[in-house]
Amino acid sequence: MIAFGPVPSRRLGYSLGINHIPPKHCSYSCVYCQVGRTTQLETKPQVFYPVELILAEVEQKIHESSKAGRAIDFLSLVPDGEPTLDKNLYQLIKGLSTFRIPVAVISNASLLDRDEVQEALCLADWVSLKVDTLNDSDWHRIDRPHGSLSLSSVLTGILAFRKQFQGELVTETMIISGINDDKQSMLQLTNYLQELQPFKSYLSIPVRPPAESWVKAPDNESIRIILDVIQQELPFAEVLFDQENADFESTGNMVDDILAILAVHPIYENALRSMLKKAGADWSIIEGLLKAGTISTIQYRDKLFFISNFHNKKEI
Ligand code: SF4
Repeated sequence: MIAFGPVPSRRLGYSLGINHIPPKHCSYSCVYCQVGRTTQLETKPQVFYPVELILAEVEQKIHESSKAGRAIDFLSLVPDGEPTLDKNLYQLIKGLSTFRIPVAVISNASLLDRDEVQEALCLADWVSLKVDTLNDSDWHRIDRPHGSLSLSSVLTGILAFRKQFQGELVTETMIISGINDDKQSMLQLTNYLQELQPFKSYLSIPVRPPAESWVKAPDNESIRIILDVIQQELPFAEVLFDQENADFESTGNMVDDILAILAVHPIYENALRSMLKKAGADWSIIEGLLKAGTISTIQYRDKLFFISNFHNKKEI
């Protein structure tokens, strides 16, 4: 199945996903990739599926959704690999545009120094590009690129694309403990993003099982530094440090449940409140944990994060 959903997405509303690259053809082998290690590390585009087949599946899904009364906000190219490795990308996005639903593409940006890739992505309405680091050795450690790629070409390609793209450009950065979570890395990143001026810059930490088990989210001290830097330097940044807990089910011990989640990643106050509500528990549990010094809070703009004070110890 190439087309799936529509599924709710934090950034794209209801998104009909299109998986037009088989696992795992990619130009990167990111240590945090949720699809696992890249088995086909490559930069040469090829034809994976006929465009007509993809469009027929998408049309069928649109038809089914419309019959079920479900709106679709975006048709999203979110494959199990790098979408710009599709040789037919231009024709595919052009074909998708005929459905009159905005088209989104999530790319690692590694091939954006190529004119044909820029041309194809310019047909989309919303493009997300990966900018994990400005540091060459960190780039090799985090994204593990194909040997023919160079970070400076990638960064230049992104800036060139920005100049001609008429749609909404966003960036994504994954912050990994011990690699790109220090102040210097954050300042380099913010300098570049200030020059790029995307519509939004999303910063994430690993909250789902990564390709490499040693990959960890930054500790609380680093999270404080990161929030501090972007709060001052990047008004268009948004942090996605928690994962959606819509599927949260309590084991019956709410304190343990909350501590288990907080040991892995921070949670926004609103998310915490809805988890408690779903479990029929009340806020006094949180007050108790705060009073005992087991958890604490970090204010970020108008939001309050809750973090575990034992985050590091649990990871040793
Ligand atoms: S670029 Fe995306 S698909 Fe490729 S390895 Fe990185 S996270 Fe996985």
